[in-house]
Amino acid sequence: MTTKGPSGFIELNGQLLVVDFGKIFLDGAIVGLIFDDGYLQHTSGPFGTNKNLRPVDAIPGCVFRGIDSGGLELILPQCGEANKLIGPTGSLKFNSVPFHVINGRIAAPDHGFIGEFDDDGKIFVRDYATRVTKRELDEHSCLNFSFEGKKSNGEAMTIEWTRKLSRRDKPYAEDETIRYFMDYDQLKGQEKKYLFDNMKLWAISGILQTVRRNEGNCALGNVRHGAAGQTGVRTGNVTLDRDEMGRDLEMFYKHGPFAVVYTRYQPYLEVRINLVVAHEFGHQLEFILSKATQDEIFDLYEKMLRQCDKQHPLPDEYPGASELLKQHEVSKRLFISGYARFSSHEYFAESVAAFSIEESRRYLKEHDPRLYQIIESLFYEPEKVIRPVLKDQLHSLQASLRMGGEMPSKPV
Ligand SMILES: [Zn+2]
Repeated sequence: MTTKGPSGFIELNGQLLVVDFGKIFLDGAIVGLIFDDGYLQHTSGPFGTNKNLRPVDAIPGCVFRGIDSGGLELILPQCGEANKLIGPTGSLKFNSVPFHVINGRIAAPDHGFIGEFDDDGKIFVRDYATRVTKRELDEHSCLNFSFEGKKSNGEAMTIEWTRKLSRRDKPYAEDETIRYFMDYDQLKGQEKKYLFDNMKLWAISGILQTVRRNEGNCALGNVRHGAAGQTGVRTGNVTLDRDEMGRDLEMFYKHGPFAVVYTRYQPYLEVRINLVVAHEFGHQLEFILSKATQDEIFDLYEKMLRQCDKQHPLPDEYPGASELLKQHEVSKRLFISGYARFSSHEYFAESVAAFSIEESRRYLKEHDPRLYQIIESLFYEPEKVIRPVLKDQLHSLQASLRMGGEMPSKPV
């Protein structure tokens, strides 16, 4: 049997036992198993012979010190004082994901140690991504949850907690997307699907919520100049033109994220990205990046622009600023889309749009690896690229989203 468990030492009434990946040794012989969540099983010797699961708290004079299977510091029972119940026991559903709570420790069905839960109903997450043993969740980072059980003093405890303004029947990412898109209820079936396709990655990773809270949301409205959308510089809110969004949507479901279109300037073509919701979101997203990151994006853009002027000079009669290409140059284009050449802001917004869908994300990774890396950092090392003041709230939110099964722990 392979055990995924902690490593360190158990002190049992003055006796010291070695623990190696969950196996407890005494004089070279295995005398029991211990899991990350503090359950023991198949014990013998000084623990007494018992094959059933028992929490460490139930064994008088027993303390574990070491690291869990994920390498985070682990002390069991958490307070370091044996046999003292320090939190509730019962069942917890966090964003509909079921957990078992034993004396304040939140345990996964596979005995993973997920976090802590106290008698006041506060949740703390063990954050393996940033290696912090205890991140307190607040009203912004906590997901909907319910708890049924008893407090450490034996009193019954029942909690139904809901995020402010959330639609209780919806999972987090869907709910967040609906909150972002103010006119959601006006949208028809395929428009809704298009919205979720554009925004899914940003929603499950907490980036959408961070942008919404710090910059603004998105609504339908009249956009002039025939653009599909625009982002207000002053308000930070996005306005999307429904007809233009409809044209983008049609192209997206017909051709995928990229479309190559004819221009009025023969024989030139232009590459388009058919993800206007994610594009406008990209403009809002740029505002939450650190000054250093924004500067680096500007430099990347300038460098690409100079190269583009050399390799794909624009025809004299063309008044625009998009990258135009002859048929055979499409696969050798510098910018991910023609419009990305317009400014460093459009360059970034088009790349955010491309990142949102697997097919175009792969293209971005291959053709603009540094910008890809910057955007990818938002998911796994946001502290490298976002404004320092937003770091803690995003770390807590992402730890919460991993616990709630919204955000995968592996890179996208
Ligand atoms: Zn734009």
